[in-house]
Amino acid sequence: MLTLRWRKTFTHGVHPPEHKEITRGKPVRRLPFAPRLILPLAQHIGQPAIPLVRAGQEVVRGEPIARADGFLSVPIHAPATGVVEGIELVPTAKGPKAEAIVLRVYAGDGQRVLYGAARDIEALDAKALINAIQDTGMAGLGGAAFPTHAKLSVPPGLVVDTLVVNGCECEPYLTTDHRVMIEWVDHLFAGIRHARRACGAERAVIGVEDNKLDAMDAIRARLPADGSVSVVAVKTKYPQGSEKLLIKVLLDREVPSGGRSYDTGAVVQNIATLAMLGRLLPLGQGLIERVVTLGGEGVKQPGNYLVPLGTPLSFVLEQLGFEGGAGEIILGGPMMGTTIASLDVPVTKGVSGILALSPEVRAKNQRRVYPCISCGRCLAACPMHLNPTRMGLLAAKREYQTMAEHYHLNDCFECGCCAYVCPANIPLVQYFRIAKAMNREMAA
Ligand code: SF4
Ligand code: SF4
Repeated sequence: MLTLRWRKTFTHGVHPPEHKEITRGKPVRRLPFAPRLILPLAQHIGQPAIPLVRAGQEVVRGEPIARADGFLSVPIHAPATGVVEGIELVPTAKGPKAEAIVLRVYAGDGQRVLYGAARDIEALDAKALINAIQDTGMAGLGGAAFPTHAKLSVPPGLVVDTLVVNGCECEPYLTTDHRVMIEWVDHLFAGIRHARRACGAERAVIGVEDNKLDAMDAIRARLPADGSVSVVAVKTKYPQGSEKLLIKVLLDREVPSGGRSYDTGAVVQNIATLAMLGRLLPLGQGLIERVVTLGGEGVKQPGNYLVPLGTPLSFVLEQLGFEGGAGEIILGGPMMGTTIASLDVPVTKGVSGILALSPEVRAKNQRRVYPCISCGRCLAACPMHLNPTRMGLLAAKREYQTMAEHYHLNDCFECGCCAYVCPANIPLVQYFRIAKAMNREMAA
C-alpha cells in the first residue's frame, strides 16, 4: 500500500544525491594507533589550549596534556600512551601552520585508558557540571567544534526550556551520527540528561531526517517514560541540520537576525556530541577519539571508524587502501567541508568525515566560471531567503560593507546551496566567506 508521509521541513534548500548507502549499514570499527599522533592546541573555536607537557615526557592514555585557556577553551588529552616528541608547527586543515603536541606512541602497549575516575554526575550542581563538561575537552563533533560547556552555559537573564538535539546529518556521504544513534543510544540518553541539567532545559526534542528511520526506531525504543524527550522525523533536505532552521522546524520559533538560539529559549547540540558526553562524563575521562565516516569513491574500505585524535590523514587513508594525494581529499561533507593541502593534517575534534571523491565529482567542483545569467536559482535555493545574486555581484566589486548593511551577509551561514545550484559555477559561498573575513578585519 502506498503511504504518503508529511514531514516537517523549511522552505528552499536543495536535495543533493545522498551517497550514504555504502557506509550507513556498517558498524563502527576501531582503527589502529598511528606511530605518531599530532594534536593541535587549537582544535576548537576559542583560545588554544596551553601545553602541560614538555619534550621527552611520558604520558598515559587519557591524561590531560594541555589545559583550557579561559572559559572559551577546552583541554586536550593524550589519545595514546607514549612520549612527547615536542611542540611543533604543523600543517592544519585551515591552511596556516599551528602549534601542536607531537606524541610518539608506544608500540605493543595495551592502550587501555589509564586516566580518569568514575563519579556520580547526578550529584553535581549546574556549575560543577559545566566545569566537568569542560574538563572532558568536548567540542562540537558535528564540525563546528564549539566548546560544548560554553554552548550549554546560558547567558544571564535568558532562560532555555528546550534542548534541540540535531540528528539530521544532512551532508551527503556522512553517516557518523547515524551509526552513533544506533550503537550508542544509552550514552546518547545519558548525554541528553546531563546537557539538559547543565542548560536548565526541561525537555529535549531530537530531530532526525527521514532517511534514518532505523536510527529513529532505536531511539524511540529507549525514550524515557516521563515524556521529557521526544523524537521527530524531519524531511531529508539540505541544510536541515542548521541550527536556525532546526529550531524553526521543530519548535516553530525564529532566531532573530543577528541573534542566537538562546533568544528563542533553545540550545542546539549535535547528537554525536551528546552521545560522547554521556560516555565520558561518568568515567571522568577526556575526549581522545571520535567516530569518523571514511567514504567516497576513492576509498577501498569505506565505513565508520573510531579514530584516535591526532592520527595523520595519511595513516588513516593508508589503512583503507587509498593511494591518491591531498588534492583528492575533503574533510567534512562535500557541501561545507574543506579541501586540504597536505596529508600530514591530523584528525581533530571537529572532523566528522574524510572523503576521497572520484575525479568526476572533483572535476564538477573545478568547472569554468561564467558570468551570472540572472536565472534566480540561487534565490530559490537559499534557506535564509537572502539574495546571493546581488551579494555575488557586490562581492566581485569588493563592496563588502554594502553586503552586510543592506543584504544581511551575516545571516549567511555558508551552507553552499546557492553555489550548488548556480549554472554559471560562480563560487558564491567562497565570495561570502571572503566578504565576512574582510569585514571582520575592518572592524578589528
Ligand atoms: S551560502 Fe549563504 S547565501 Fe548561499 S544559500 Fe547558504 S545561506 Fe544563502
Ligand atoms: S544561480 Fe548563478 S547565474 Fe543564476 S542568478 Fe544566481 S548567481 Fe546568477
